Amino acid sequence: MATIEHWIGGGETPGEGSRRATVYNPATGHGQHEVVLAETADVDRAVAAAKEAFREWGDSSLSKRTKILFNFRELVNAHVKELAEIVSDEHGKVLSDAAGEVQRGLEVIEFACGIPQLLKGDYSDQASSGVDVFSFREPLGVVAGITPFNFPAMVPMWMHPVAIACGNTFVLKPSERDPSASNFVARLWQRAGLPDGVFTVVHGDKVAVDAILDHPDIAAVSFVGSTPIAKYIHTRATANGKRVQALGGAKNHAIILPDADLDYAAGHLSAAAFGSAGERCMAISAAVAVGEAGDALVDLVSRKAGEVVVGSGRDPKSEMGPVVTAAAKERIERLIGTGEQQGAKITVDGRGLEVPGYEGGFFVGPTVIDQVSTEMDVYTEEIFGPVLSVVRADTVDAAIDLINANPYGNGTAIFTSSGEAARRFQRGVNVGMIGINVPIPVPMAYYSFGGWKDSLFGDKHVHGPEGVSFYTRAKVVTSRWPQAAASLHFPTAS
Ligand code: NAD
Repeated sequence: MATIEHWIGGGETPGEGSRRATVYNPATGHGQHEVVLAETADVDRAVAAAKEAFREWGDSSLSKRTKILFNFRELVNAHVKELAEIVSDEHGKVLSDAAGEVQRGLEVIEFACGIPQLLKGDYSDQASSGVDVFSFREPLGVVAGITPFNFPAMVPMWMHPVAIACGNTFVLKPSERDPSASNFVARLWQRAGLPDGVFTVVHGDKVAVDAILDHPDIAAVSFVGSTPIAKYIHTRATANGKRVQALGGAKNHAIILPDADLDYAAGHLSAAAFGSAGERCMAISAAVAVGEAGDALVDLVSRKAGEVVVGSGRDPKSEMGPVVTAAAKERIERLIGTGEQQGAKITVDGRGLEVPGYEGGFFVGPTVIDQVSTEMDVYTEEIFGPVLSVVRADTVDAAIDLINANPYGNGTAIFTSSGEAARRFQRGVNVGMIGINVPIPVPMAYYSFGGWKDSLFGDKHVHGPEGVSFYTRAKVVTSRWPQAAASLHFPTAS
């Protein structure tokens, strides 16, 4: 088994400790690599290299940074297939989906290529007699990203292209379940001409994360993962004086009104619930069928769920791959069972699915659970698997109230042909990202991505304008040439 090492100071290193984790191929269920798990000393070494690199990178010209970003964009674009294969083999998602994730990451790199425009400040000529005022933004220094297993290429790319374009150096702690994509990306940054130490990868678990949260030389932490960990990261890192954006879990609802094209809605619901085996933070996991839409919708979506082709991510016929670990499979199947015990009706049951030739794989088939109520575990838990719960509501307002009573607020969607209902929905829901007849409304890279409530701790969303703001801080300069006579009065415009 190959060992995946840290990437520190421009090269791979096994680090200080001897702890290792197995990286599985979820389709076969076999271990395929080992990944090193950092000790605090490894994080110290990585941050020291990043701090040293910041001395030059933080002072580098916009034109130098832009050239490297354009090179990086070309290299990622040329290696989409390889990167997608790495992602598919460790995460389990099908190749086309993995290529899609790389594509969405590329869009953030393209956004970051516009950094000279994004960092332009303001200038007020003659704010007072002989006085000009102008503003600009500076990088923070060493910043860190801690990322989840479900988008091992894209989620780090929400962060590092923007942070690096802004002049920061970046320490990434990716998920230990699918770590290889990060080392591949580190090599591409190096080939693009990025100086050693500007992009660093430290692999690990809680030990590495805690060392990042406590390190005095890390100025900001971006986190994406589950809500309990997001809360923990936000609390501990802000207590240590860091700027923090911590994106958490989700329970994304789609409302289906009786005036919607139900066939269209069912097709998109099936794709949004079962694509990537439901392991997307923007997956739809709760369908709220309004009024008489319910029975017809359940019939249609159950039929579509039964048609999804489940298999290895490497098989071009597969539409959906396995879930990430044996533990995830066990948890998802247990939760489906609680739905049955608590009185819901399973119309399509994905438990116990076996894929010929992949008997040891971590497969769970698409599952539809009807007659779900808001007290049931399948509704209150973030299942993070291919499970769609159907809840019924009498009116669009009752459906909006139901969404707003949920602790999460990441994404939501409505299927309708009524502009009036759609507008009421978009204004009424307490959710960060909203789709109208679009089930997975992931914003383009030039907007920012983030949820509300328990889906985000901190006040800045990632990438887009808020990402640039997160990774920089402002200076405002008031200047006068030549110096005039001083006065003890508080300065006012004259
Ligand atoms: P996770 O919270 O288990 O892990 C995320 C990161 O935190 C990993 O790097 C992991 O090593 C680290 N970590 C895990 N346990 C820790 C602990 N006790 N102390 C310190 N660090 C710890 O999440 P996951 O299972 O990798 O990813 C799935 C979750 O991420 C889901 O809840 C999903 O909704 C969420 N997610 C959210 C978004 C979003 O945009 N809001 C995007 C993707 C994923």
